[in-house]
Amino acid sequence: MTAGILEPGTLRTLIAARTAHALRRGALLSLPTESEFLEQGGVRFLVRILANLARKEQAGERQAGQAAASGKPVNPFLPYDEDLFVTGLTDTHLCLLNKYNVVDHHVLIVTRAFEDQQSPLERQDFEALWICLREFDSLGFYNAGPVAGASQPHKHLQLIPLPMAGEGPAIPMEPALTAARFQDSTGTSPLLPFLHAIGRFELDPAVSPPQAGETLRRHYQALRQAAGRQDAAYNLLVTRRWMLLVPRSRERFDAISVNALAFAGALLVRDEPQMSLLKEHGPMAVLKSVCF
Ligand code: AMP
Repeated sequence: MTAGILEPGTLRTLIAARTAHALRRGALLSLPTESEFLEQGGVRFLVRILANLARKEQAGERQAGQAAASGKPVNPFLPYDEDLFVTGLTDTHLCLLNKYNVVDHHVLIVTRAFEDQQSPLERQDFEALWICLREFDSLGFYNAGPVAGASQPHKHLQLIPLPMAGEGPAIPMEPALTAARFQDSTGTSPLLPFLHAIGRFELDPAVSPPQAGETLRRHYQALRQAAGRQDAAYNLLVTRRWMLLVPRSRERFDAISVNALAFAGALLVRDEPQMSLLKEHGPMAVLKSVCF
């Protein structure tokens, strides 16, 4: 399949069709989970627990094994697995299925050429993200470096469809966003007990992707300045109406990894001991412990 450009209005169908294809080919290795809700600090967090830890561990071991055999680090996005290719988005970005997905139809927005995950996001990154976000109600997110939960160094934004859970708000963290107080377009929420910055905007779907990309980039820059700690790793969440940026001080609370989805109100734990730890401390306290 050639890496063509997306025809507007077709992304959802393409993702569904490619998912069916990748499952048939054994290229998509979904990680089954069970879930429950844990409430703290005015937010009802969705907590997933892996039903099959072995599969998650195989994922890391497979890449480590390939790296050892070839003597150099493996980049799963260059070259990417053709069976996971969804569509080209722009001259600079393409869309792949996430190979080890917990959430159905989770896609990655990957740069065609290598760029470092820790380099700043540019207009082109937001343009590709917007091309996806405007297709259907979805959440875009970014883990800027290993301390923010990134497992791959090749630049990749991510996108999941909304709603995130079968009940409650489309994004569990939404009550914190609703409580935000703004000065102009940048604000903070009294419900988030850690350093963060929130941006809000109205983007008409008729705005051209390059222009929308530039608007989003400007908001991102403003949030990086407003939040401070610009040398730190960070997580970014982007919807059609708001953006949340959270600088990170560490990757884990005990053995629990925290990435951008945790700040959307969805945590993933590996096993029962981690679930017990999360219940003991509470999810908001866990988030606080990995931020400033
Ligand atoms: P992150 O861990 O946030 O950096 O996101 C990288 C994602 O890439 C992970 O969620 C993995 O499931 C996914 N991944 C790993 N290997 C591949 C691959 N070969 N093709 C597509 N996605 C992959």
